[in-house]
Amino acid sequence: MNFDFSDIEKAFFSRVDEELTAYAKAHDMESGDLAMIRGHLAGALSVLAPLGYLKIGLYADNVPVCGSLALMAAMEHVAGISASIFLSVEMSARLFGRILNAGAPSEDTQEIMQGLAAGEVVGAVALSESSMNVENEPLATTASRQGGVIDLHGSKSHVVNGPLADWFAVVGRIDGQTGVFLVEKEAPGLTLTDRIDTMGYNGVAICGLELNHCKLSPSRIIGPFETSQFLDMLKMWENQILIAAALGMMKGSFESARDYAKTHRSGGKPIIAYQEVGFKLAEMLTLYQTSQLYAYRAAWMADDDTKASGVLTLCAKVFCTEAAETIAGKALQILSGAGYRSGGPAEQAYRCVKYSQIAGVSTEIARVKIGDAALGKM
Ligand SMILES: Cc1cc2nc3c(=O)[nH]c(=O)nc-3n(C[C@H](O)[C@H](O)[C@H](O)COP(=O)(O)OP(=O)(O)OC[C@H]3O[C@@H](n4cnc5c(N)ncnc54)[C@H](O)[C@@H]3O)c2cc1C
Repeated sequence: MNFDFSDIEKAFFSRVDEELTAYAKAHDMESGDLAMIRGHLAGALSVLAPLGYLKIGLYADNVPVCGSLALMAAMEHVAGISASIFLSVEMSARLFGRILNAGAPSEDTQEIMQGLAAGEVVGAVALSESSMNVENEPLATTASRQGGVIDLHGSKSHVVNGPLADWFAVVGRIDGQTGVFLVEKEAPGLTLTDRIDTMGYNGVAICGLELNHCKLSPSRIIGPFETSQFLDMLKMWENQILIAAALGMMKGSFESARDYAKTHRSGGKPIIAYQEVGFKLAEMLTLYQTSQLYAYRAAWMADDDTKASGVLTLCAKVFCTEAAETIAGKALQILSGAGYRSGGPAEQAYRCVKYSQIAGVSTEIARVKIGDAALGKM
């Protein structure tokens, strides 16, 4: 295990930080109507694409850094700058991109991949069913072969990037197996719901989708996959994104509380002078750094031992997403009245973090799986 980053990696992280921070300072990327969100996402993608950030984990060559550990650290930097942009970018370029990579390359997928890497195409992943976590199989979205075409029918309750996406990777069943169906935004039979208002991630466009006998060419199927391995990988990639999101939230919450504690005065002295405030910061820093190490270890393991890394990633996800909530809560306590106002990093993290505990493998299901692994059942 070696979590030291090379000079090349550190230089890359710094460039990502500098360039995206400069963009973020000029735009409020944590809220807005659809037109604003579309503009912010396009702007952020145009900053990240030339740096090669969007290619990491997808391409073997011409990438600025390689491996899941460097990817985790790179994602952590972006998540620390904007929670909303991070989620939109990762669900598009990384999760959608990795799904495309999982199938046999076709002209369609190659073209979409190029668009994703250039930041010109936005993707969305529609895995979960309406009011049903995918763990409670079977997936209700089904596809049947009718002559030379595929007939896709079903619905998905929440889709990040849905209102903006050019392409949807819809996960469903075909021939008794799991497959992914590539659906273009204009495909007849595809209907998007109105944008869904959410308690956090207000700079992300989310909607539901319905597929009413949507007809596709068979070349638009990724898979089908005989075993559950593909779904397990997909969930692990999503969990890695949500872990990095939690690290970004911890950074924002901790730093805002620390800076405030040093400068805000109460009772004639800076509040850092009160031992209880210092203790809170100490606990927050300890949790943040432990989470970071856990996240790095799980990411490092992903390239070394895929089976073991699945459970370790679940442990890291539960730990990091719960730690992020604890840290945001303590930060708000230190920030007090100032923190309770809308718009600060801790207040925002407090609202966004719930999503990272629900999405991917939920905290409850993760605990069941971790328990099974502990008993040697996985
Ligand atoms: C804002 C938002 C954006 C989303 N974006 C996307 C997206 O882009 N793509 C996508 O595919 N999905 C997306 N989702 C769906 C998300 O990933 C979850 O899979 C989905 O929310 C779970 O379904 P549910 O909310 O109906 O919860 P349920 O599955 O009904 O779960 C309710 C509760 O029961 C628990 N539970 C359920 N099953 C079990 C079990 N087997 N064992 C133990 N506990 C269990 C859960 O942990 C939870 O606490 C999004 C969800 C939200 C809220």
